[in-house]
Amino acid sequence: MRTRATALRAGGLLILAVIGWLLPYQLDSYSIHVVDVMIVFALLAIGLGLAMGIAGQINLAQVAFFGVAAYATAILTTKAGYGFWTSAILALAAAAAFGLVVGLPALRIQSHYLGIVTLGLALAFTNWATNATITGGAEGISGIAGPILPGIDLSSEYLYYYLELIVFAIALAFGLFVVHTPLGRRMRAMRDDALAAGAIGAEVPALRMTAFLLASVYGGLAGVLYAGLIRYVAPETFSIANMFFLLAMVIIGGRQSLVGCVVGAAGLTLVRELLADYPTYAQIAYGTVVVLTVVFAPTGLAGIPARLRSTASRLGWTRQPAAAGTAALGPFEPYTAAQPVDSDTRRTEPILAIDNIDMSFRGLQALRGVQLTVAPGEIRGIVGPNGSGKTTLFNVISGLYKPTGGTVHVSGRNLTGASSHRLARVGIARTFQNLRLFGQLTVRDNILVALDDTRTYQAWRYLLWPFGIWRHDRNLRTAADEILTRYGLAAFGDALPGALPYGIQRRAEIARAMARRPRLLLLDEPAAGLNGEETRQLSEIVRSIRATGVTVIVIEHNMSLVMSLCERITVLAGGTVIAEGTPAEVAQAPQVIEAYLGDSDLSHDVPAPVPTEIAS
Ligand code: ADP
Ligand code: MG
Repeated sequence: MRTRATALRAGGLLILAVIGWLLPYQLDSYSIHVVDVMIVFALLAIGLGLAMGIAGQINLAQVAFFGVAAYATAILTTKAGYGFWTSAILALAAAAAFGLVVGLPALRIQSHYLGIVTLGLALAFTNWATNATITGGAEGISGIAGPILPGIDLSSEYLYYYLELIVFAIALAFGLFVVHTPLGRRMRAMRDDALAAGAIGAEVPALRMTAFLLASVYGGLAGVLYAGLIRYVAPETFSIANMFFLLAMVIIGGRQSLVGCVVGAAGLTLVRELLADYPTYAQIAYGTVVVLTVVFAPTGLAGIPARLRSTASRLGWTRQPAAAGTAALGPFEPYTAAQPVDSDTRRTEPILAIDNIDMSFRGLQALRGVQLTVAPGEIRGIVGPNGSGKTTLFNVISGLYKPTGGTVHVSGRNLTGASSHRLARVGIARTFQNLRLFGQLTVRDNILVALDDTRTYQAWRYLLWPFGIWRHDRNLRTAADEILTRYGLAAFGDALPGALPYGIQRRAEIARAMARRPRLLLLDEPAAGLNGEETRQLSEIVRSIRATGVTVIVIEHNMSLVMSLCERITVLAGGTVIAEGTPAEVAQAPQVIEAYLGDSDLSHDVPAPVPTEIAS
């Protein structure tokens, strides 16, 4: 199956390449001009797709990246007397620098606010281009020097097409490579759930800047090629109207697919040519199609094949097994136990030492003077009524919240208030009470994101040594398959988490956390929603994880599970620790019994902590 798909794909690419190469022979001089402009828009759309569709960063300044590079080329060739190629490199650098500036707000704000800010920056650029002297004002700049290649007359739009085609092919291939390897996978994870991405080590701020950098470099390439093609720049090309035209391309084509973005760009450029005589109707038509796409086909044209396939399988036209729906969770393969933790370090250095932690949310004090010390290799239980601050404590330990007071030491290092990705790199991994798997990533991709340990700044390797990235990715895939098998998830590797039963999603989240190879694993109500057999397997998994030397802290409402699994239990109530000790000690503490029985909400769904297991 796999080799056939690869062969088909290679064949398709070859045919496309031949068509691309022979296309100019079929076109008159006007049509080739349209195609040349189309490629410029396709590059812009890829950049926008990378920022918006892949990294989830609303970017309405793409047209300004385009403009910065085009104007830089114009100014450098006409006013500074540089040649085209030198100007092109400087123009790309200018676009990239502008991209980083536009990306700065993304560090603080997201979604539609980011849209408004980037739109504001795009407007500022258009204003500057219209009013500045150096840009030639509304008249723009003409007489831009075009590119010169020995032996090739690039002033011919036919030959210029080949220059564009080569740049475009490389740019698209690079974009696809980024999307399907660690950097792009992390961006997609960040798009789906920035919080969870941070908790598994993704440097969210750096990734957001990288997204804007990529978008601006693609915009810059488009700007340089545009300036070399038209040899004239004027403000209206970089107007907000064109920004929305570009947005329409990406939305209609399918923003999560770079190929979709290209198809959208090609399609809309053609439609615009066809409707050139009816500009008003054309605008209304684009708007209508965009709205219809957003409402009825949010994945755009690129999502159509998948929708057809799922319709076909629903109607029973295909004989593919509905793997995700019917397959069962496989057995867990226990880890081979590591050396038992040295009893000396156990006494001297706690893996986690929380001292006097306070956490308040505008007047509501969720944690008050919490003390918690966990020895390496321990399984610690944290119990307490709903709203007692258990999850908040995990959020403080894993860096999602900065505590308002107190300190957190991990293996002796003071990491109070450190970012979640830093804590993830120190060896803390966690699951979430309300599952936070990356929804648009397959289960395998969820695990691949967690497995990858490279830092974002190492992304320069994508430019200088892509082969190394490819090899690294292949190793990650082998490791991911091992994890999927170990956790009995092999049948679900290609499924999206949302399509899977709850128990499988819980298992996948533990697998993802363990893919980080943590020293300290935090499980927030891992048995919630599990049936009896799944709960039994869960305690087997947690024991096996601990046997490899990983310290586990588990928040749990299932008292018999906590009592049988944990060596020590900490009881929280109203944001303070009210008891700590062995299961037997805690179960007999009067303040614990009172806290539970006093909470009428809980007394019926949580058994009082005196199950029979603790007697033995
Ligand atoms: P538990 O996990 O023990 O059920 P939580 O830690 O989720 O409890 O919540 C403890 C208290 O803190 C609750 O009263 C909750 O409403 C409050 N809280 C938790 N997170 C936030 C937040 N981000 N903003 C405001 N209040 C919060
Ligand atoms: Mg909770």
